[in-house]
Amino acid sequence: MTLSTPSTKLIYPTIAKAANNWHGLIETYRPYLPVSEATPVVTLLEGNTPLIPAQAIAAKIGRGVKVYVKYDGLNPTGSFKDRGMTMAISKAKEDGAKAVICASTGNTSAAAAAYARRAGMKAFVIIPDGYVALGKLAQALLYGAEVIAIDGNFDDALTIVRQLSENYPVTLVNSVNPYRLQGQKTAAFEVVDVLGDAPDWLCIPVGNAGNITAYWMGFCEYHTSGKSSRLPKMMGFQAAGSAPLILGERVANPDTLATAIRIGNPANWQKAIAVKEASAGEFNAVTDEEILAAYRLLAAEEGVFCEPASAASVAGLLKVKDRVPENATVVCVLTGNGLKDPDCAVEHSFNELKQGVPKDLQQIAKVMGF
Ligand SMILES: *Cc1c(COP(=O)(O)O)cnc(C)c1O
Repeated sequence: MTLSTPSTKLIYPTIAKAANNWHGLIETYRPYLPVSEATPVVTLLEGNTPLIPAQAIAAKIGRGVKVYVKYDGLNPTGSFKDRGMTMAISKAKEDGAKAVICASTGNTSAAAAAYARRAGMKAFVIIPDGYVALGKLAQALLYGAEVIAIDGNFDDALTIVRQLSENYPVTLVNSVNPYRLQGQKTAAFEVVDVLGDAPDWLCIPVGNAGNITAYWMGFCEYHTSGKSSRLPKMMGFQAAGSAPLILGERVANPDTLATAIRIGNPANWQKAIAVKEASAGEFNAVTDEEILAAYRLLAAEEGVFCEPASAASVAGLLKVKDRVPENATVVCVLTGNGLKDPDCAVEHSFNELKQGVPKDLQQIAKVMGF
């Protein structure tokens, strides 16, 4: 089987419409990506994630506003990081790399490990000890990465991997790797392909600010090629205890239960500011309580289980809901799957496990409220 397919046959939208024929985002968006026939495409058929109408959230806003969630937690390793990683690993492979390295709050390491191992490369991941959700750690280990937990936070880990990649034969696959953002921009393409135009607002959680930068790049490229008539306002949300872009300064000890965005010194800081300005957008902070409220709302009323960091986009939208224009279309990005962080779900659900119930029909019916 050959992995790189002639580009002429696989141009969107023909392929994407037939879900069974989805060949991954590189083949689908090949004309928009820096790949050639020589690029060995390393794919797990990522992308093509659903854009789900969110009526319970829309009802809280009213005024004819339509809300959708872009559920990128349905990617192969459970987060949008797969979009960037299919590109970064394919290009690393093309360049002859034998090993890759990343710093990670968890999802980057899961994606890097899966794609690197699939490509036959070694994967090294450096994580902040004690601040990576269980599901993500489980993935990196089982995918076969060398997982190194340091006594430090994500920002420390990023500084270290940058230095390691300069001094040793390992390719850096954090979002400072430009191919990551190239892959991630395809999420914006998918949103426009489904809606038929760009939304009025895009709400997105912001950590290192790679994803907000990538989405904007995607919206701009599609707009330039005539696929959309407008550009969205980019609304970025950070956790209140970890909000350098809102404070305008680094946060030495970032703190939030949304570990995926527990970042005090965003790697793409300047790009994020440029996106905010170019899109007339905003950055706002949401508290952990607001994040948890949105997390529960998404699960219990929309049936969508995302991880806490992802719920920051919905928490943020609800926080600024009075400023959404009448009849606007809003897309909230749900960056990761809820199963990544089962501890958080169990700990913060209002619902409790009903334990110690005897195996007796009547008693079970009674517990059920009948
Ligand atoms: C990586 C990640 C983010 C933050 O994305 P940035 O590109 O770093 O801003 C948000 N949510 C989840 C689930 C992530 O894995």
